[in-house]
Amino acid sequence: MGKEKEKKLVEAITPMDQDFAQWYTDVVKKAELVDYASVRGCMVIRPYGYAIWENIQKNLDNMFKETGHENVYMPMFIPESLLQKEKDHVEGFAPEVAWVTHGGNQELTERLVVRPTSETLFCDHYAKIIQSYKDLPKLYNQWCSVVRWEKTTRPFLRTLEFLWQEGHTAHATAEEAQEETIKMLNVYAKLCEEYLAIPVVKGQKTDKEKFAGAEDTYTIESLMHDGKALQCGTSHNFGDGFAKAFNIQYTDKNGKLQYVHQTSWGMTTRLIGALIMVHGDDNGLVVPPRIAPTQLVIIPVAQHKAGVLDKASELKDRLSKVVRVKMDDSDKTPGWKFSEYEMKGIPLRLEIGPKDIENNQAVLVRRDNREKLVVSLDELENKIQEVLEDIQNSLFEKAKVSQVEKTSTAVNLDEFKNLLDMKPGFVKAMWCGDRACEDKIKEDAAATSRCMPFEQEHISDTCVCCGKPAKKLVYWGRAY
Ligand SMILES: [Zn+2]
Repeated sequence: MGKEKEKKLVEAITPMDQDFAQWYTDVVKKAELVDYASVRGCMVIRPYGYAIWENIQKNLDNMFKETGHENVYMPMFIPESLLQKEKDHVEGFAPEVAWVTHGGNQELTERLVVRPTSETLFCDHYAKIIQSYKDLPKLYNQWCSVVRWEKTTRPFLRTLEFLWQEGHTAHATAEEAQEETIKMLNVYAKLCEEYLAIPVVKGQKTDKEKFAGAEDTYTIESLMHDGKALQCGTSHNFGDGFAKAFNIQYTDKNGKLQYVHQTSWGMTTRLIGALIMVHGDDNGLVVPPRIAPTQLVIIPVAQHKAGVLDKASELKDRLSKVVRVKMDDSDKTPGWKFSEYEMKGIPLRLEIGPKDIENNQAVLVRRDNREKLVVSLDELENKIQEVLEDIQNSLFEKAKVSQVEKTSTAVNLDEFKNLLDMKPGFVKAMWCGDRACEDKIKEDAAATSRCMPFEQEHISDTCVCCGKPAKKLVYWGRAY
């Protein structure tokens, strides 16, 4: 009977190969990550979704502190005049900002923007607090939400309001700013690969794709199960453009006035969307152990029998010293519980019943490959940690293999389009550096340049689009 119920629950999600978008929607709802809100395009992040975000946040914040950054908080409103100060920046964001025009019943003398990002506020502040080279560098980060008035939205991937962090730094020299930009990109890559088990490609954005107002934008790009690309984090070098617009100057060691050089970098709740689409399967979510709010769930079997619940609680207390553990002793059937925690992607479950207790053992079942292991109760601590570590590594390896399989190369536009239609993923192709070719590729193949990877390769001498001499290898793809 357990089996039948299990099957029923599983049937509630659409198989991913049948309709990936519907599968995604089913998972975010049924794993209780989010609920839709009564505001269009906004989401309620439920406790389980928020707990995943908290773990991402905790690990990222630790890495920020280790690299010398401090957290601050800026207002959520930006006066229109402040946003206008940097021309490219305002042009980039104006179409998608939310305006505040009234305070109570009174019309405001100056409209306010609900922050879509906070460069202008940080710059305004930096202009006031930076005077001397002794005030540098300033290494600030802010955890907050931002608002962008998007037309089409999807939970975690694109919502009007989302949670993120935005780092904003000011440095004495261009070299220091560049070093910071790359340092933070590497922090992002580390979070993705070592915690979320998501392999990324590191590289630079083309001018067309870079951040509004940035000199250079660097990115980490990943591939989802359906072959679509997802930008996981970006790091921007602003040079002294914002410093000039906001007059952020300092006196150097020789008493000369200089402009500061700035960076900014951000990661968002989109990462949860990436985690779902990289690791999930037809049974639901699969959460990598290092980021999982619950790493092990204990399920007592035949729990009405004498001694079972006592043993299960005893194990929970014991194991809570080494893993994030939870026990489900509700009166639902074990079969129901198995599929429920598989849906939620909890990395490992422990089953314990009267027979197991008699034999001084428990059964461990891995979420990633469903492998069953019978383990002596005396060895649980070691074994569980070992298996969790193995799950973490296997998830990364599996995602890496999938990324490699979904990456192809093209030398002409026909081949390029054909690959994107027939074998969705990254297409590596050479590019002449002209914006016109990027535009044409977007129009003809509905693909964008994801990045010019740091690890350049030579595939051919000519641009995949126009046939003129090529300057760069580019990763292209259709993206979320
Ligand atoms: Zn070209």
